[in-house]
Amino acid sequence: MKTILTGIRSNSILTLGNYLGALLPMVRLANEHSKDYNVNIFVPDLHSIISEVDGDLRENTIRTLKYYLAAGLQINENVHIYRQSRVPAHSELCWILDCVATMGETSRMIQFKEKSKGQESCNVGIFNYPILMAADILLYDATYVPIGEDQFQHIELTRNLAMRVNHKYGDIFTVPVSTAEQVKFMEIDNGIRIRDLLNPEKKMSKSTKAENSKIMLDDAPEVAAKKIMSATTDSLGKIKFDMWAQPGISNLLQIEALVNNVPLQDVISTWAGETRYGDLKKKVAESVSTMLADFQANLETISDEQVISLLEKGEAYANVVANEKLHEVQQAFQLR
Ligand code: ATP
Ligand code: MG
Repeated sequence: MKTILTGIRSNSILTLGNYLGALLPMVRLANEHSKDYNVNIFVPDLHSIISEVDGDLRENTIRTLKYYLAAGLQINENVHIYRQSRVPAHSELCWILDCVATMGETSRMIQFKEKSKGQESCNVGIFNYPILMAADILLYDATYVPIGEDQFQHIELTRNLAMRVNHKYGDIFTVPVSTAEQVKFMEIDNGIRIRDLLNPEKKMSKSTKAENSKIMLDDAPEVAAKKIMSATTDSLGKIKFDMWAQPGISNLLQIEALVNNVPLQDVISTWAGETRYGDLKKKVAESVSTMLADFQANLETISDEQVISLLEKGEAYANVVANEKLHEVQQAFQLR
């Protein structure tokens, strides 16, 4: 059985970008495929500590898992939920892959460049985390790793490391499919990239300081609506989907489509020829606040105990699978 694997860092409350770009597509995929695939959903808590954690990491972890359930994730015996730090094989394989990866290829990672930019001193974890991510994927022979566009480069790195090891030691790892194939599997045209509401040239990120730049999943629906109403647009006076010339308006059209689960093309057609940005904002604000109200009501119904019991089962499973793969690698590297 092939494996689909995904994780979302739980450093803080997630944004609408994380929800629409990662969580929701993953939940849909999982529900669609969990009869025929293993679906591994893990919280990469070791990735969390490369940067500051907002609040208590353990609580954030449980909350992130509740998000999956609130977004509609259906659980069956093929769905495995675990915390990265509870499966020590991730760190061990990371070290071995560190000795396979080169400084050159790792230094080229855009996420590293972005995350280290302007920092007086940058921790080694920020540099190393794509390798840990490769370990997260390769330990479980994952074929599909649904992720946002900002992580594509890390998938290519993972593929290169897997192929390098396989070339030298025989077929140890399943090479995840290319990002083009990943996108096809996710049934989206391109990686989804929700933009920062105030600076729509940039993507919405939970670590951005300005509160009005991002919609958080725990924002009161009326607060979220206000943020949409104050989103940066442009002075062109036409509602058109053009991410280069009109990133703010295009972002609103995209949010409207994703929140209502309708094709972007339909939303574009509906608004074609319209000129009043205020009307569009009002409609998107309404859609987002309705979605948040529903989501938050679902969240209330999920208990900590429910999540913890899923984790206990998932972690027992993950340790068996990961240790078996690690052992194989250790033998190849003459460590066993
Ligand atoms: P940080 O600022 O801490 O990097 P982030 O918002 O970029 O936070 P990540 O933890 O890096 O979130 O990514 C979690 C998942 O959400 C990844 O799969 C990523 O591709 C996806 N994602 C992040 N931001 C967006 C966005 N603006 N639009 C769509 N998907 C996104
Ligand atoms: Mg990020």
